Amino acid sequence: MVKNTLLQVWPIRAFDDNYIWCIHDGQSALVVDPGDAVPVLRYLEDQHLTLTGIVITHHHADHTGGILQILQTLKMAIPVYGPATIDIPGRTQGVMEGDKIEIAAPRISLKVFEVPGHTLSHVAYFANMQANVVEPMLFCGDTLFASGCGRLFEGTPTQMSQSLAKFAALPKNTLVYCTHEYTLSNIRFALAVEPNNANLISWAERATELRDKDLPTLPTTIGQELQVNPFMRCESKEVLQSALSVSGEASLPTSAHVLAVIRAWKDRF
Ligand code: ZN
Ligand code: FE
Repeated sequence: MVKNTLLQVWPIRAFDDNYIWCIHDGQSALVVDPGDAVPVLRYLEDQHLTLTGIVITHHHADHTGGILQILQTLKMAIPVYGPATIDIPGRTQGVMEGDKIEIAAPRISLKVFEVPGHTLSHVAYFANMQANVVEPMLFCGDTLFASGCGRLFEGTPTQMSQSLAKFAALPKNTLVYCTHEYTLSNIRFALAVEPNNANLISWAERATELRDKDLPTLPTTIGQELQVNPFMRCESKEVLQSALSVSGEASLPTSAHVLAVIRAWKDRF
C-alpha cells in the first residue's frame, strides 16, 4: 500500500550557507542537491528515514559533491535525477523540460523546468498541489534566491529573465526552496535598487529577526518574491529607474536589459 501522509520539507545545513532540502513522509525521503554527504547521512539516521532518491538541479560541486558517497554508504541503487544535458557522476535519470517524475515513496509528482542562467543545464522541480502536498513547492537550486537570483556563470541575462518568468507564472502560494541562505545580503542590494519598496523594508526587518535567531529565511513564496525581488520586478518603475541611472542608458527596452544591468550591478555591489 502506498503511504499517503502529508509531505514535510526540512533543511539540512551544509557548508557555510547551503540548504540541502529533505522531502519526506516520516519514512521515505528524497534529498535535493546533496553537496555534502555527511550532514545528509547524519540527518537520515537521526530522523530514522530511508533515502529513496536524490534530485539534482545543477552540476556545481556544492550541489552534487555528496552524491557518490551517499550511494556508496547506502549500498543501495536509488534513482538520482538530474539535468540530462550534462554529465553528473552518479546521475541515473536525465530530466528535461516538461518531464513528469512520479516517485512512489515519498509519494510525489515533480514537473521539470529547464531554467538556464546560473548554468546552462540548470533545472528546477515543481510539485503542484496533490494528495499529500497542500501548497505547491518549487525546488529552484541557484536560479532564484529570496530577494535575489543566481550569478550568471554560464547563461545570458535573457535566459535568466526567461527562467524567472517561468517561476513568476507559478501559483503565488508556491513555496520556494532556494539552496542558499543569501537573504540578508540580497536584501541589502534590493534596498539599493528599490529604497522605497515598503514590502521590502518590512521583509528586511522580519528576515533580520529570523537570522538573529539563526533560523532560515526560507522557504519564500512566488507571491513574496514578486513583491520584494528586484530580479522578478524588472518591469516595476523604481527598478527600471535605478537601472537607467546606474547604466547611464537612455532606455532599457526589455526586462532582460534591466536584468542585465542590475545583475552586473549586484556582481560588484
Ligand atoms: Zn550553483
Ligand atoms: Fe550553489
